Amino acid sequence: MRPIYLDHAASTACDPRVLEAMRPFFFEQSGNASSPHKQGRQARKAIEDARETLAALIGAVPTEIIFTSGASEGNNHAIFSAARALKGKGKHIIASAIEHHSVLGPLHRLEQDGFQVSYVKPKADGIVAHEDMRSALRPDTILVCLQHANNEIGTLQPVNEVGRLCRERGVYFLVDATQTIGHIPVNVKDICCDFLSLSAHKFYGPQGVGALYIRQGVECPAFILGGDQERGRRAGTHNVAGIVGSGEAIKLCKAQMSGDALREAVLRDRVIDFVLKNIPSAVLNGHREKRLPNNAHFSFSGINGEELVSALDLAGVAVSMGSACTWGQLGPSHVLKAMGLSDEMALGSLRVTVGRWTTDEDITYFLEQLKLKCKNASSNS
Ligand code: PMP
Repeated sequence: MRPIYLDHAASTACDPRVLEAMRPFFFEQSGNASSPHKQGRQARKAIEDARETLAALIGAVPTEIIFTSGASEGNNHAIFSAARALKGKGKHIIASAIEHHSVLGPLHRLEQDGFQVSYVKPKADGIVAHEDMRSALRPDTILVCLQHANNEIGTLQPVNEVGRLCRERGVYFLVDATQTIGHIPVNVKDICCDFLSLSAHKFYGPQGVGALYIRQGVECPAFILGGDQERGRRAGTHNVAGIVGSGEAIKLCKAQMSGDALREAVLRDRVIDFVLKNIPSAVLNGHREKRLPNNAHFSFSGINGEELVSALDLAGVAVSMGSACTWGQLGPSHVLKAMGLSDEMALGSLRVTVGRWTTDEDITYFLEQLKLKCKNASSNS
């Protein structure tokens, strides 16, 4: 039996068509994009094509996009550079308490350097109220950080409302759109953001490449220094094949996003309905409707999530408790704790994220196994 992969929020496999588009850039067209010769020019042209594709998808202009190694770099770049540029104006930042660690990490560092950060908790349904973000604003606020969708519970956040608020107040707004790009429509003009981060391995592109949107006119000094690449805004030899792959992945998502989302939502709803009906100790985490089309996230009382994930792994199904980035860390998820879950419920969690190639049969097998493992776990406890 082929392994069943239900952990698309952690990483999606590279689409074979993406790999095909990347292939020449490892071989006959493997020039350095900063070189003057033909291979260098070909690489530069391919990068600019990918930049245009991405810019068009999110409603930006190509010069507003820089390519990065992924969303962690994009978030670090936006936060440290905005803080550096604006520290004379104020040293207060607002973030939701359920941001990804690549946002929280830089913010903790800035706190050590004298910045103040207000962390706004979500409501019990995982949604951060824009009124709560508004109440946290101060005259010295320079930056607001709010993810588009949470990577654990899949909840969609009110980025448009918060973006309008930030624009009115003249405060920079960073949106981590890592979980939404390629899955649902994202438009930087509608969101009114100044920075938006993304990562190709979440939408069937390669790992280790992403992009940061920086709105024209926004002060954002380079973060990685030592070369003139990306018009002096990000040093380092371009990951040409990776960037080309990102562009191809974007084209594919654009063509099949609505179809993929509809199909995935049917599978997701099947998982949610089955679990809530058949596993008495289960609760759904996150808002029932305002969530990513591919995400189902549960807590089970009396069941250890780590053991459940391992048991399912042995049965050939890849799922997770929440974020792959925090697997192996002791303690409950900061997202579930911020929503008010007890330690027991937070430690009994399971994230199921379906994808482009998930079938009905995959879900049937997974649900059978899940029911069995939960029954075994309950009778052992
Ligand atoms: N933000 C979110 C919401 C994510 O889900 C992830 C990946 N788990 C990241 C940032 C980091 O992305 P990358 O792996 O590209 O560094």
